[in-house]
Amino acid sequence: MSAEAVLSRINVMKPWLGEEEARALAEVVASGWVAQGPKVKEFEEKFAAAQGVRHAVAASSCTTALHLALAVAGIGPGDDVVVPSLSFIATANAVTYLGARPVFCDVDPVTGNVTAETIHAALTLDTRAVIVVDQGGVPLDLDPIRVLCDRHEITVIEDAACAVGSTYRGRPVGAGADVAVWSFHPRKILTTGEGGMLTTNRADWAARARTLREHSMSVSAADRHGPMLAPPEFFLEVGFNYRMTDLQAAVGIVQLGRLPEVLARRREIAARYVAGLSGLRGLRLVSDPPYGTSNFQSFWIEVLPTFGTTREGLLERLAEAGISARRGIMAAHRQPAYKWRDTGNACLQQTERLNDRTLILPVFHELDDEGMNRVISTIRAAAAGADA
Ligand SMILES: *Cc1c(COP(=O)(O)O)cnc(C)c1O
Repeated sequence: MSAEAVLSRINVMKPWLGEEEARALAEVVASGWVAQGPKVKEFEEKFAAAQGVRHAVAASSCTTALHLALAVAGIGPGDDVVVPSLSFIATANAVTYLGARPVFCDVDPVTGNVTAETIHAALTLDTRAVIVVDQGGVPLDLDPIRVLCDRHEITVIEDAACAVGSTYRGRPVGAGADVAVWSFHPRKILTTGEGGMLTTNRADWAARARTLREHSMSVSAADRHGPMLAPPEFFLEVGFNYRMTDLQAAVGIVQLGRLPEVLARRREIAARYVAGLSGLRGLRLVSDPPYGTSNFQSFWIEVLPTFGTTREGLLERLAEAGISARRGIMAAHRQPAYKWRDTGNACLQQTERLNDRTLILPVFHELDDEGMNRVISTIRAAAAGADA
């Protein structure tokens, strides 16, 4: 890599944080109440309103929110939960935490998302739930999945970790599932450092998730510390400490306010990539499906055998130009943690193909014209097989 390229390295992503987040944090510090309290409540209310759902329950991460979602859905030992292998490992892990069995299903070759057909192929007599994922922010086609799952009385859990701001048939993703979960890790669209959220229209599930995340205490910490004489508390079942802090929530509230601007910029960057890269032989670009819009949390491309170089070759060319791209979405069934487990026997051909051929290009709010042009020209040069 040349010295110039080192100086102007382009990361695959970069969170967009500023003065407003710093001020919000300072206010919480000054207030003296830094653990879960009024800011978490405010963030939950604003998030629920933004997603068009009745209840939002904040958690320490999307992974812990997913654990809570499966718990409130009543999943336990002996149950099968269908999940895509083509997802971040947390999707399968959460099922394993409950003592249930993740059963891997394949994905649509175009969107990279599960479909009613791929889920159907993985159903067993013990299937109690399915975790559907809006992979990289591309919305999944929920309606046919709902029909299938309603017929078999299977709970639909939506892992919308990457998908805040993505839409399905004109409304935010997640709203049509029984329960959905979201991530605020810096790799995602909005960040609180670490953090997650569970959303649902079911009041009973929201209430149980609230107590489970706080050791299943009968009285929340906020209520216990409010009055001078605290009421006695009881521990109703074995719970967890999956709380978000008010420090995180204060940042989350500011970030949520930035969402429209963040979305507009990401879609603008995606459009620039499409304009610069479409028509290249052997390259397929992620795009909006006919029924929804992506937030372009990930802008991925598929490198076909007819392209000028392999996926690994293209990653190297990008690295030489100071561009940090990433291999596409992982496949859990190929990881040591799951390789030797019994995870069903559905065919995972499309999963393996996408796992082998896709890569993710840089997209972040402050990516400038020079950066985008460098990404585009490096890929065009690789397509032509020319030396950079
Ligand atoms: C990032 C991610 C998670 C985990 O989110 P955390 O907030 O880091 O726990 C889960 N599922 C998917 C699909 C993800 O992309």
